[in-house]
Amino acid sequence: MKIAVSGAAGRMGRRITALATENPEVEVVAALEMSTNPLMGQDVGVVAGVGNLGVFISGDIDKAISKSDALIDFSSPEASLDHLRAVSKTGKAMVIGTTGFSEDQKRQVADLAKNMKCLMAPNMSLGVNLLFTLVEKVALALGDAYDVEIVESHHNQKKDAPSGTAVKLAEIIADSLKRDLNEVGVYGRKGIVGARKPSEIGVMALRGGDIVGEHTVMFVTGGERLELIHRAHSRDAFARGAIQAAIWVHDKPNGLYDMRDVLGLKD
Ligand code: NAD
Repeated sequence: MKIAVSGAAGRMGRRITALATENPEVEVVAALEMSTNPLMGQDVGVVAGVGNLGVFISGDIDKAISKSDALIDFSSPEASLDHLRAVSKTGKAMVIGTTGFSEDQKRQVADLAKNMKCLMAPNMSLGVNLLFTLVEKVALALGDAYDVEIVESHHNQKKDAPSGTAVKLAEIIADSLKRDLNEVGVYGRKGIVGARKPSEIGVMALRGGDIVGEHTVMFVTGGERLELIHRAHSRDAFARGAIQAAIWVHDKPNGLYDMRDVLGLKD
């Protein structure tokens, strides 16, 4: 199948292009970037370090959609939403890996996705999606007796905080414990904040160097602590997952899916 890569000159876009060349099921036929990107017009294969592919980075979303079966987008929330609007007018599919959407933007994605094939996931790796399933089980088993804290670490260029993955972890735990994350989510602590409320779900974001992505979920009570940790060693698990997601979603009925649908991790 034919894929278009959006955010093609970015960290994720480059790995998606490179790994697509190793996958006989897919072919990169278009590459999209922001009009001001200095790599505009360059061969996307050269940018990704895999040699000439004869596909040149452009800003023409309509052409990219018409050439491809699915658009894989790792760019910015605003760009992904614009691209989603364009894809929704066609019969094509879209995979969104971008994170940092506001609640209102997430609602817009859900509305547009009703009439198209769309897969959106803040994390495309098998390990993190298993972590989503595990934290749900642990939260249900331990209930309110354990304090829940989430710590995430990422590289110093990451724009959004906390990470989309940490937000998803917090949402899953809040749902399992029947709490409203808007009321119980605590994002950083400073000053005389007083004793921790038992219902709090703490989410802390660390930034530094080239950390690809780490998430720790702690369930803590008097006398013991259970920690579930995922560490990404490279972006390849996310890039492979995004390609797998595009192959999976492109012939599904219209609707909004996530990576747990692809991996068969939903009950
Ligand atoms: P990056 O900044 O390296 O790359 C983003 C690219 O998008 C840049 O090259 C930028 O020029 C481009 N872009 C901006 N506007 C655009 C537009 N209108 N059209 C086309 N391209 C445009 O960032 P990154 O590390 O590659 O991450 C990109 C996004 O993916 C972030 O939101 C990040 O949090 C998310 N991410 C998701 C996963 C996952 O598994 N879902 C994994 C890693 C990163």
